Amino acid sequence: MSIAERYKDVVNQVSAAAVASNRDPEDVSIVAVSKTHPASYVEQALSAGARVFGENKVQEGVEKAGLVESDEIEWHLIGHLQKNKVRKAVLAFDVIQTIDSLKLAQRVDRIADEESRYLKVFVQLNLAAETSKFGASESELLKISDFLASASSLEFAGLMAIPPFFKNPEDVRPYFRKLRELRDELREDGIFSGDSGWLSMGMSQDFPVAIDEGATHVRIGTAIFGQRG
Ligand SMILES: *Cc1c(COP(=O)(O)O)cnc(C)c1O
Repeated sequence: MSIAERYKDVVNQVSAAAVASNRDPEDVSIVAVSKTHPASYVEQALSAGARVFGENKVQEGVEKAGLVESDEIEWHLIGHLQKNKVRKAVLAFDVIQTIDSLKLAQRVDRIADEESRYLKVFVQLNLAAETSKFGASESELLKISDFLASASSLEFAGLMAIPPFFKNPEDVRPYFRKLRELRDELREDGIFSGDSGWLSMGMSQDFPVAIDEGATHVRIGTAIFGQRG
């Protein structure tokens, strides 16, 4: 199957999962994760209708975005952001999904302000406190949320997590549910108003379960672009 065919297949699977969970397919965005793949792959997915792309490295994202001619793409940073790469990231990406400390949030806001940029951000949570993974703890989330609620150049768009890997996607469900509950608490606290507060969770292997638990953004690489080399 071509990338275009695989992308359309994923769109159908995402829609089917949303409908099965009594949700509107329009409420679930596919972030096509193009990391390690060439710009030509992005163009193929673009021609099939993909508009949101995810990269996990700042430099790679900057280069790829420069090669793909399109004003329609929304680029999401989904990998760890080092503080010396913030300016580059702020200029190249539309959404940063990986805010994981108060310091980083403050720095991104300051630099976005300096560059006259306005970005949406997600706070990344490390739900299982895995030492191998980045992400804020629940207590850090509250501090970061308070700051983001009043940040001048950032919109606090939602929460993101990369749960531990399990062969059986059902085993990931408690982590997806936990992220949704944290989002619901932030709604109760008035940090997210109305039905705002997106949830970026679910990858190729487990996105139907994530959608069932309320995912608004599923980050899908392998199912669209094939195995990474
Ligand atoms: C690579 C990556 C994905 C995509 O994973 P697949 O299993 O290929 O769909 C999703 N999220 C993050 C943060 C990633 O780094």
